[in-house]
Amino acid sequence: MLNSNISLTGMPLLRCENLRKNAEWINQQLEAQNAYFIPLYKGKVLVSLGGLGKLTCQQVKRFLSSVNKAIFLGLANEDKAACFTIDFSHLDEQSLEQTTLMLNLETAATSWQHLRFAINQLSTSDAAICGFAQAMVNWHVSHQFCGYCGNELITREGGHAKKCSNDECNKWVFPRTDPVVIMLVEHTDSQGVKRCLLAGHQRTGGQVVSTLAGFVDPGESIEEGAIREVFEEVGLQVDSLEYITSQPWPFPSSLMLGFYMKVSDDALNIDHNELTHAMWCTKEDIAEFADWGDESEGTQIPGKHSIARYLIDRWCKGQL
Ligand SMILES: [Zn+2]
Repeated sequence: MLNSNISLTGMPLLRCENLRKNAEWINQQLEAQNAYFIPLYKGKVLVSLGGLGKLTCQQVKRFLSSVNKAIFLGLANEDKAACFTIDFSHLDEQSLEQTTLMLNLETAATSWQHLRFAINQLSTSDAAICGFAQAMVNWHVSHQFCGYCGNELITREGGHAKKCSNDECNKWVFPRTDPVVIMLVEHTDSQGVKRCLLAGHQRTGGQVVSTLAGFVDPGESIEEGAIREVFEEVGLQVDSLEYITSQPWPFPSSLMLGFYMKVSDDALNIDHNELTHAMWCTKEDIAEFADWGDESEGTQIPGKHSIARYLIDRWCKGQL
């Protein structure tokens, strides 16, 4: 069943997979009076009191050069207005400031904010559009040259495909997402008390604890990946698992696949290359934890926009 409670999902745009293959149609959309553009800058979006900063066709016209093409995101369901994203990341801070002033965007109530932190201020729809835009921009940055022959890749299909410029090679490449499994592990003790496993990761320091997670390897199913990751990170054998839901996570290109797991043995063998520590927590323990980024010096858990937090909150409510 579709789960609209997960941030970065709930895309309101029609992606128009067939129409966007037509370069003429894309050019017509770029010049349409009601077309609008989501500006991005090094992982940041423009946020104002009214929500997400959007630019008109007239505002972005002068910026649509060969180094700065707009990527088509889709058509609005209601008025069929075309939505594009435009990336300003090639500008240094000073040039960005000048550009922002020139576009009349810099007001007291407007600022560039990292998408990760802006999610909470945006509507569900705008957050989903920004996540899509960021994922597409990330793909363009990392796919400028052909992986087969090294020649330049040429953008096609409104930004959703690239073709090698070398006629003898002619390879096409398309945007990809990397599957990442994320697991909430539960153990029930001899008194019937349920605890879930939360771990501190080396990359975030010990204060933040979260569910376990890891990339799916080539040659394994997502279930196999989830079971392997739990064994590698904390030495637990999984008795049963259930897939719960997923979340696109464009930092830079992941698709998070959430699982609920049960184990009968709670003895941990922690991989300290990955984790600082791991601990079994009751829902009462978790109620005492703060949100990631809070001023508190105590234990913190991931923010409400993450699938990790969604899994934790659902488990605390006894819904898993
Ligand atoms: Zn090539």
